[in-house]
Amino acid sequence: MDNSTVPDARDLTQHERAILDLLLSGDFPGAADLRAQAEHVQVVATCGCGCGSYDVAVTEPGVARADLPNGPILQELSVIDADGTFYGSVIMLAHGGLLSYLDYHTWDDRTLTGLPPIEHLSVLRR
Ligand SMILES: [Zn+2]
Repeated sequence: MDNSTVPDARDLTQHERAILDLLLSGDFPGAADLRAQAEHVQVVATCGCGCGSYDVAVTEPGVARADLPNGPILQELSVIDADGTFYGSVIMLAHGGLLSYLDYHTWDDRTLTGLPPIEHLSVLRR
């Protein structure tokens, strides 16, 4: 997350889609609008460090914007090892009420080779 991003225009992978769906699941402020946006998104750049964080663009201009301030949306994913160690988070930043950046970061210095496995993730409301 501390390296510059690399342009990478493409559809979300199945894994990215599964994580995004989980991150936007349930009821929290802006959830319905963000889920509607998520049906029309593309990756536009990925983090240069290999962590799997990505910039996302909403490709449907007519989609409703969520009534949210710029910054993290009000739900995130905790990343927890098979042995129960809480080691990171996956968050989504909104800008102008639109999905903008998915950030994966960890608390320790493990080398990241992409987004965490879906079974390590649990939903955390802020
Ligand atoms: Zn990174």
